Amino acid sequence: MIDTHCHLDCSEFETDRDQILERCERTGINKIVIPGVTEKGWDTILSLSKSKYNLHPALGLHPCFLNNVDQSSCQNLERFLKQDASIVAVGETGLDFFIKDYDESRQMEFFENQIELAKDVGLPLILHVRKAHDQSVKLMKQKRFDQGGIVHCYSGSLQQAKQYLDLGFKLGIGGVITYERSHRLQKIVKELSLSAFVLETDAPDIPPFGRARTRNSPEYLLEIFEAFASYRSENAKIIKRQILMNTTEILPRLDLSSE
Ligand SMILES: [Zn+2]
Repeated sequence: MIDTHCHLDCSEFETDRDQILERCERTGINKIVIPGVTEKGWDTILSLSKSKYNLHPALGLHPCFLNNVDQSSCQNLERFLKQDASIVAVGETGLDFFIKDYDESRQMEFFENQIELAKDVGLPLILHVRKAHDQSVKLMKQKRFDQGGIVHCYSGSLQQAKQYLDLGFKLGIGGVITYERSHRLQKIVKELSLSAFVLETDAPDIPPFGRARTRNSPEYLLEIFEAFASYRSENAKIIKRQILMNTTEILPRLDLSSE
């Protein structure tokens, strides 16, 4: 199994990262994608990924952390993307209109820049989108972006989900699906084709049900898988295999970099 979204570079994992990775390996979580959030964090992600064969970097500028970002950040991002073939995607990037304090036009500007960059280097996107799915889809259509990617921690409607699928995206399903009250997401998981989904933990955030007071960890991916599988009619083996295929299809560099 592959955790397609885990912030393993966070300080929360400083003391026991190696032990977590050992436990992941024992439970069959073989690869982890670490998405970039700020320019400052890129070096840590790259060096961490170089030290462990099963960690894979994505680099990007998160829409909620654009305070110290300027055009030079985009130039640096471009330089990294062009010189390092181990980077599996551009992200996380996107739009977050959930919290009203953020500057929407600034988010649009840097999202556009990163769509262009991904097009330029031929990489998929890892998207963080809240309360802005229509705007996000519209922007990618305008830019004729067709390399697909993952809408991480998917929170939109079934209708919006179909639009993302038409654009070649997969929906990232994480801890939210383990909660009884996640009715809208459960319906999406039930109704769409199995080919629409990839799994993620978003650790250290969004711990699955029953672990609410703890730090989330990639080793809990299995719990997310089980909740996801409970809303599907296929058997667990088929689901596991299809999800793995979806993941390597949408992030092709994961496959190339295997062993
Ligand atoms: Zn994230």
